[in-house]
Amino acid sequence: MSPVIESDEHKDLRAAVAALGKRYGREYVTTLLKEGRHPTELWAEAAKLGYLGVNLPEEYGGGGGGIAELSIVLEELGAAGCPLLMLVVSPAICGTVIARFGTTAQKERWLPGLADGTRTMAFGITEPDAGSNSHRITTTARREGDEWVLTGRKVFISGVDIADATLIVGRTEDARTGSLKPCLFIVPRDTSGFGRRQLDMELSSAEKQFELTLDDVRLPADALVGDEDAGLLQLFAGLNPERVMTAAFAVGMGRYALSRAVEYARERTVWKQPIGAHQAIAHPLAQVHIELELARLMMQKAAHLYDAGDDIGAGEAANMAKYAAGEACVKAVDQAVHTLGGNGLTREFGLASLITAARVSRIAPVSREMILNYVSHQTLGLPKSY
Ligand SMILES: Cc1cc2nc3c(=O)[nH]c(=O)nc-3n(C[C@H](O)[C@H](O)[C@H](O)COP(=O)(O)OP(=O)(O)OC[C@H]3O[C@@H](n4cnc5c(N)ncnc54)[C@H](O)[C@@H]3O)c2cc1C
Repeated sequence: MSPVIESDEHKDLRAAVAALGKRYGREYVTTLLKEGRHPTELWAEAAKLGYLGVNLPEEYGGGGGGIAELSIVLEELGAAGCPLLMLVVSPAICGTVIARFGTTAQKERWLPGLADGTRTMAFGITEPDAGSNSHRITTTARREGDEWVLTGRKVFISGVDIADATLIVGRTEDARTGSLKPCLFIVPRDTSGFGRRQLDMELSSAEKQFELTLDDVRLPADALVGDEDAGLLQLFAGLNPERVMTAAFAVGMGRYALSRAVEYARERTVWKQPIGAHQAIAHPLAQVHIELELARLMMQKAAHLYDAGDDIGAGEAANMAKYAAGEACVKAVDQAVHTLGGNGLTREFGLASLITAARVSRIAPVSREMILNYVSHQTLGLPKSY
């Protein structure tokens, strides 16, 4: 498969997901938000069509594809106005990590459910006192006999209320050196000592964010994913798909906002011509279209490298794709709101709420500045300030 020219299979997948998205659309999300519900119908239908687990291995009920296919699913649902945020964490991060590094028992227990949508898994790395500096995380796991005991705090973790379990990034003490190393633990939602508090976010999204407390959470030995010594490698195996999927989320949202603006600019007439004839309106929309296309191209490159097993090459491309997509999305939404004039700020047209939603892709899962740091240091070889 060429990463530049999309294959016929990918075009077909895109068209099929777009058709599903069109049947639900933005109105579905607006209704859900009013009713305080989750997108269960869309999640179930996407699962039935094989879209949720498209990246997971066939032997565990998945589609046998990769992040390239899963990112198409998320982008197209987003472009239709009804993105499924949990795709970023459940099949993309958690499914990938378990498929690549989990024990056979863990794969059998989790992958079929993640693939058919009957189970969902959240992902928790961010901590209040570490933020962007994940080397500073302090959630610690200690061994007590056959069990692991986890203590720590997490913040901004999405979808913990609907997820059957959360994949928690903690650290264990190296028996030989005493130094701390990252490890991943599957923590079922109702485990004793695993508390959550919903954060009051300024976001119109069915998926909520939570602060988590892990207060002597006791877990069986097999809660540790894969190998204790391969923690860092496993973590990065999940973080690159997360970045590609956040790019897909951003490109999808940007396309949705752009399409609404174009539709409006073609019709709205306050002088002789529709406002879209004025270059001050048309050119920024054309620029946004170009920037979204460019971001998608980098996203496809990152997905292609990742699916081909090039974790290092995928790392740089996934960061750059996330950066480009986040910036293009923020610009697309800003320009779309502006194109609609006063209507851009009404609930009826529903674009204003995307202003905060678009900013998420600039901040999470890794901020714009941290990507610029990465490219400065890793790609350009510039010295570090921190
Ligand atoms: C809606 C939403 C959903 C999320 N979902 C999840 C989730 O499911 N799981 C999860 O683990 N996390 C999640 N996050 C957390 C997200 O990944 C973090 O917010 C992000 O990593 C930034 O961390 P922080 O908020 O602590 O910001 P900070 O690290 O405090 O950064 C604040 C500002 O300082 C800048 N900054 C920090 N260090 C530097 C530096 N060295 N150089 C230049 N600038 C710097 C940053 O770019 C940023 O602009 C979510 C966040 C949001 C908003």
